[in-house]
Amino acid sequence: MRPFVYNAQPARVVFDVNVRESITAELRRLDVSRALVLSTPGQAGDALALATAMNGLAAAVFTDATMHTPVDVTVQALNVLHEQSCDALVAVGGGSTIGLAKALALRTGLPQVVIPTTYAGSEATPIVGETCDGLKTTQRSPKVLPRTIIYDVDLTLGLPVGLSATSGLNAIAHAVEALYARDASPVVSMIATDGIEKLARALPRIVLAPDDRAARSDALYGAWACGSCLGAVGMALHHKLCHVLGGSFGLPHSETHAVLLPQVVAFNHDAAPDVMARVARAIGAPRAGEGLFDLTKSLGAPVALREIGMPEAALERAVDLAMADPYWNPRPVDRRALSLLLEQAYHGRRPGGGGSLMERGNARL
Ligand code: NAD
Repeated sequence: MRPFVYNAQPARVVFDVNVRESITAELRRLDVSRALVLSTPGQAGDALALATAMNGLAAAVFTDATMHTPVDVTVQALNVLHEQSCDALVAVGGGSTIGLAKALALRTGLPQVVIPTTYAGSEATPIVGETCDGLKTTQRSPKVLPRTIIYDVDLTLGLPVGLSATSGLNAIAHAVEALYARDASPVVSMIATDGIEKLARALPRIVLAPDDRAARSDALYGAWACGSCLGAVGMALHHKLCHVLGGSFGLPHSETHAVLLPQVVAFNHDAAPDVMARVARAIGAPRAGEGLFDLTKSLGAPVALREIGMPEAALERAVDLAMADPYWNPRPVDRRALSLLLEQAYHGRRPGGGGSLMERGNARL
């Protein structure tokens, strides 16, 4: 066993309950009585229903959470929070809503109860990203780590299939990069492998039957597992590239993760062969990069940057930005190799060349 450091993130996780029945008890455990309930406009119905079920412990509802946590929206929510003398934050939604709760917790120190409805994993991290004047910056602080996470599978049954697939691949990306992190630990690696395996099995079942409760439950557990890896160790080239493409070219968050992951894994393959063998086993494929590409395609998720709005002319600029302030990566990154990686991703070419096993099988028929 090689030396390692492991910092547990102290959050309470309540898995697969009816949140409307359990929220009041969870708020009482934190000794709070005037919660601000947060959501996006699209999930306002869930937020209002939850506030109604809170037996007088909801002081206000704010339903304007927005992707990438713009600071002006945080300021609006902060005004409501102060006007209503709120003493807790309750977020129901994906990474955008949880991002708003974290931004508010950063400024007020209030405790958060979060109810995740996607697989992005933000609930399990002490990380907050915020956007100001078109620039997204990320910081770590124990102040933004939610105190309680409640998973209610029923709230995820309506997550559209496309977003379910890309959000699940976003979660897998956290776990893959945790496995080859410079500060990897056997504890985190165990959780990461379990998370990848659960999601890789659950996502195809969700695509076939979006209301498959058992598959949704496995995916939600996998999302927590993968999210806790993101919070525990440093990320590498994949997360750096997603940050650059999302932040500077406005590409959609989970779709960008879906497209880049197979390419980055193939790029890093020879620098971390044991990890890649572990990833391949977890997804049930002969090789990690090719297997992730085939999984992505079979889920109907995008495999090419050109499909999700990346201008080809901007690829070199993306290389410049990624090289300017690089994250540690198991394989050293140089301009030429990165250009090639992004070109592969732009066109959506299968790593290693050739079609998927399925396509090659069909071609022989
Ligand atoms: P999201 O929160 O932006 O949600 C996308 C859309 O789906 C929203 O309109 C939302 O209302 C809707 N939606 C969510 N759950 C639904 C459900 N169950 N049914 C129907 N509609 C639903 O998407 P996301 O991918 O979860 O979050 C992306 C954001 O989270 C990005 O800004 C990203 O940077 C951030 N993030 C942060 C961390 C972190 O650790 N800080 C980790 C992962 C992601």
